[in-house]
Amino acid sequence: MRETRSTCPYCGVGCGVIIESQGAQITGVRGDPEHPANFGRLCTKGSTLHLTASAAITQQTRLLQPLRRAARGQAAQPVGWDAALDEAAERFAAVIAQHGPDAVGFYLSGQLLTEDYYVFNKIAKGLIGTNNVDTNSRLCMSSAVAGYKATLGADAPPACYDDLKHASTIFIAGSNTAWAHPILFRRLEDARAANPAMKLIVADPRRTETAEVADLHLPLLPGTDVALFHGLLHLLMWEGLTDTAYIATHTTGFEALRDRVREFTPKHVAQVCGLDESAIVQAARWFGQNTPTLSLYCQGLNQSSSGTDKNAALINLHLATGQIGKPGAGPFSLTGQPNAMGGREVGGLANLLSAHRDLANPQHRAEVAALWGVPDVPAAPGKSAVEMFQAAADGEIKALWISCTNPAQSMPDQTTVRRALERCEFVVLQEAFATTATAAYADLLLPATTWGEKDGTVTNSERRISRVRPAVAAPGEARHDWAAAVDFARRLEAKLPRRAANGGSLFPYAGPESVWNEHRESTRGRDLDITGLSYARLDQGPQLWPCPQGQAEGRARLYEDGVFATPDGRARFAAMAYRPVAEPRDARYPVSLTTGRLRDHWHGMSRTGTLGRLFGHVAEPGVEIHPRELVRRGWEEGALVHVTSRRGSVMLPVRASDSVAPAQAFVAMHWGEEFVSGLSPSGVRLAGINTLMPSAYCPQSKQPELKHAAVKLLKAEMP
Ligand code: SF4
Repeated sequence: MRETRSTCPYCGVGCGVIIESQGAQITGVRGDPEHPANFGRLCTKGSTLHLTASAAITQQTRLLQPLRRAARGQAAQPVGWDAALDEAAERFAAVIAQHGPDAVGFYLSGQLLTEDYYVFNKIAKGLIGTNNVDTNSRLCMSSAVAGYKATLGADAPPACYDDLKHASTIFIAGSNTAWAHPILFRRLEDARAANPAMKLIVADPRRTETAEVADLHLPLLPGTDVALFHGLLHLLMWEGLTDTAYIATHTTGFEALRDRVREFTPKHVAQVCGLDESAIVQAARWFGQNTPTLSLYCQGLNQSSSGTDKNAALINLHLATGQIGKPGAGPFSLTGQPNAMGGREVGGLANLLSAHRDLANPQHRAEVAALWGVPDVPAAPGKSAVEMFQAAADGEIKALWISCTNPAQSMPDQTTVRRALERCEFVVLQEAFATTATAAYADLLLPATTWGEKDGTVTNSERRISRVRPAVAAPGEARHDWAAAVDFARRLEAKLPRRAANGGSLFPYAGPESVWNEHRESTRGRDLDITGLSYARLDQGPQLWPCPQGQAEGRARLYEDGVFATPDGRARFAAMAYRPVAEPRDARYPVSLTTGRLRDHWHGMSRTGTLGRLFGHVAEPGVEIHPRELVRRGWEEGALVHVTSRRGSVMLPVRASDSVAPAQAFVAMHWGEEFVSGLSPSGVRLAGINTLMPSAYCPQSKQPELKHAAVKLLKAEMP
């Protein structure tokens, strides 16, 4: 038996695993006791990874050879890798020649490795000359990025997991950490057990498993987070709990914010948020008095049409109280996906460049062009996720390369997404699993390696870079994403005007380490400088960034000196107005629908859905409503109901749950088209609950509002 140290491919906690294998078989998995994210623990998903790996092979859900579809609607037929990549390069080159570089796009995933992300970003921005490269991380954490940059000056979570044990108050906002980040929640429980004075406050419209065990649950109305945070700041000022010296020395913009929050009295906030005044007062006192205070937050803040504002309003509280840059204190965004952070680091979004550089900054564009040895990086902004599919639906984007993600299930507004995939002249899908809803739209399906086979790095929520290592060889003809992308890029280079200044290839990589080394060089002198790291160093154990050359260890905590990543070194308060959800409920659509994760499933279930035991916790989809709503409507538990928004309708069994308030409903986001399907008003087939969500997005982060839609619930008539 062979043992291989690697990293769990699911959530952003980034637990270390030891993979047991025999020959080509992964036979077991256990937590890595030496990994500082989990110290040997694994949750249900992580501890069944070996079973899902083999189930995908035996159930034939893995994509094991390249397939080509001669025409949409026809069965895809096997094709060799060379022919597939020749065709991909030919078709992309033809579209670029006829319509220009912005007629193609790349849609990536927070589950790709940093090396994969780096190569795709360079293909788009360096070789082709388009910034149309975005990722499903746009649906997950782009509001956190924008929130950090707006206030602290850089996209860098200032705290680390170790801060849990130093905190006296933990404020969780918009995160069911117990289910979405289970091992981090175990660490929180340990910290709580060791510190009986610790207070746990949870702000969440639902009474989740996380809220259930809190000292104080604030069940705010969906989308009212900014009003709550402004109200907490109002109280912190009123009660003299702000740190005036810290504000004066290390921040700017407090006066405007003070004026902004003046009207957010406890009474006003209680009305807006649907909360008890006394609970708001209690939360403010614990936040400001029972310090250090650490805030954890995730999709409840991010997936919102005011996502950046929500992030910044929470960060305001930490700046105003000086609860940042010291042990146990700080705002700490949790990333949903295993490598959303790595994608941010290499600039794998339409508005970013390598090493946290900004596309809008001419100096940054020039630096990246020099690093890559190309004449320039285009200045025109690329299309973010929603914009990219809208542009494809409008016929502007004609060729799409999708890697490791399933937009036909995960994106909001499926009518537009599916029209986009149908209208695109050429769609490449690079995937490990053949069963996703998006596969039906692909002209070329390229088999990708996945967990247990891949080689590279990921970065978890606390800025810790871990190695991902292969335990077994790639099955069938599956190839690493970065390697297939490089082979495509080299073919494309031969067909496009020469970009490399040295006349050679822009993609001279011999393996993932050479890709990573180029990424490392791009970080020199930047806030995430990792020039002190190497694969060899990471092989001795994961490391936090920044870790510049000559530094023994990565830095656990940022801004300890009170100097922020802004031009004047001061953090910036953000004095935003409160805005309600994009689609408030009304007489026609009187119910607030929200979505979230289950404990034992991951995203669209392409991996976890292969294992029966992972359905033991929640066996089937359903729409949860308050028990009183069930009685009021005269429905039986289990009755089928149509859940209908302005964008379509799906049918689900109804369940009574006091975790949601009356006039609210909840559906887990994982269930794909074999479980949750329906139709749009124009007859487009829908898959998954996100299909009902609006494509409204935050103007700063462009993250769509996947957490709220106005719906109506009608009992299905039985024939
Ligand atoms: Fe994997 Fe997240 Fe579970 Fe850790 S907590 S084992 S990273 S799913």
